[in-house]
Amino acid sequence: MRGIVAIVGRPNVGKSTLFNRLIEDRKAIVDDQSGVTRDRHYGTSHWIGSDFIVIDTGGYVHGSEDMFEAAIREQVHIAIEEADVILFMVDVLTGVMPLDREFANVVRKSKKPVFLVANKADNYERDQLIYEFYELGMGDPYPVSSVNGSGTGELLDVVIASFPTDPIKGPEDGLPKFAFVGRPNVGKSSLVNALLGHDRNIVTPISGTTRDSIYTRYSGFGIDSYLIDTAGLRKKARVRESSENVEFYSTLRSIRAIEECDVAFLMLDASQGLESQDLNILHTIVTNGKGLVILVNKWDLMEKKTNTARDFEAVINEKIAPLSGIPIVFISAMDKQRILKAMQVGVEVYHEKNKRVPTSQLNEVMQAAWQAHRPAAIRGKFIRIKYVTQIPAKIPTFLFFTNHPKLIQENYKRYLENQLRANFGFRGVPINIFFRDKNKT
Ligand code: GDP
Ligand code: GDP
Repeated sequence: MRGIVAIVGRPNVGKSTLFNRLIEDRKAIVDDQSGVTRDRHYGTSHWIGSDFIVIDTGGYVHGSEDMFEAAIREQVHIAIEEADVILFMVDVLTGVMPLDREFANVVRKSKKPVFLVANKADNYERDQLIYEFYELGMGDPYPVSSVNGSGTGELLDVVIASFPTDPIKGPEDGLPKFAFVGRPNVGKSSLVNALLGHDRNIVTPISGTTRDSIYTRYSGFGIDSYLIDTAGLRKKARVRESSENVEFYSTLRSIRAIEECDVAFLMLDASQGLESQDLNILHTIVTNGKGLVILVNKWDLMEKKTNTARDFEAVINEKIAPLSGIPIVFISAMDKQRILKAMQVGVEVYHEKNKRVPTSQLNEVMQAAWQAHRPAAIRGKFIRIKYVTQIPAKIPTFLFFTNHPKLIQENYKRYLENQLRANFGFRGVPINIFFRDKNKT
């Protein structure tokens, strides 16, 4: 899972210089025509086995002096919200400035790891200038030269070591969290707005972003949950929909939303069907162990014949194989058709994900399954399965005890999974199956 590192600090300390040094692909999101990307730059970086995303919060803010400062302040808050690790940058040549102190007060309150980066420490003499930054109360400053690269290795060592191993956050009151993900323009915002009954994208004049929290409480029709919208910060009126940068941005938002949700709604545009980008997102959902519902939106635009939905479903299932049993709902966010049905299916998937099958019932059913179809003998060895139990985990996880755990073939594992699904459901939920030696516990 990729962590997100945000570089914050006042103007001219060298944020964008460090950013450019860290990112591998210099084509970070820099799109002057978009209101969103103007105030942040994104890129991916790599250090000793870790991939991560870097955000440069600087620059691209226009307007009066007051507006400028206000916008930067807001960026610091947004960065703290969205990032996993904060690099708080100061400049050894200027020493501590009033705005540094102000930002330090904000950043210090963040529960996330914060590293104080003392930039422009280009040589040994300048390394001695870092001590003054202890007054910010942010621990040891890391001397760095963004221009020549010195100190960046030491910094990245501690950054990657501090990535959260369990990035789940947000409300923990036990209500389902739903993410709406998919390519730009499939109708994510329209659906969220239709569910909430109002348009919650409000442009703020300062930076062109919305102030909405990424989580919106959704209660209605007996469903109590949180909605996570990936399009919330994107101002469609000002984003060129064809831009690669926008695509990258929404992918980034998708990854974050997927990390935070219980169940993801992967939205498709009925006129486009399921394409490779959708499969990438789908893969991210499944490998993150999240529940999945596919929503085929804009169904109102389709000319319907007798089996249109069934045929459409068959094509999707073919493309997502070997995944199976993923619920697919045909909706129209515009006409508010079956949007409640979609939510109900999402809630079902949420419950399926948390379902536990009693061990006795599990063994009764699965014993019949492995007796009806025994694993093939391998190199003259007979494989027997003795016992199965569901163990506590984030996704339904089953432990099968056998005399030869290493000899179980992939297709037999799939058979067991299909039997579990056929008998117990788990629709829209990834299942984990492990085999263990029956003589060990
Ligand atoms: P930002 O506004 O924080 O993004 O700062 P910039 O990255 O635009 O840098 C501001 C100025 O500081 C530019 O002139 C950079 O060349 C210079 N600068 C950035 N990093 C270093 C550094 O490590 N050493 C020195 N000597 N100058 C630097
Ligand atoms: P997002 O980028 O995924 O958030 O997509 P939007 O919600 O901004 O929708 C993109 C465009 O598709 C807008 O012009 C919507 O009006 C339109 N749209 C969304 N849902 C539907 C739908 O169910 N039917 C039709 N015909 N158009 C829709």
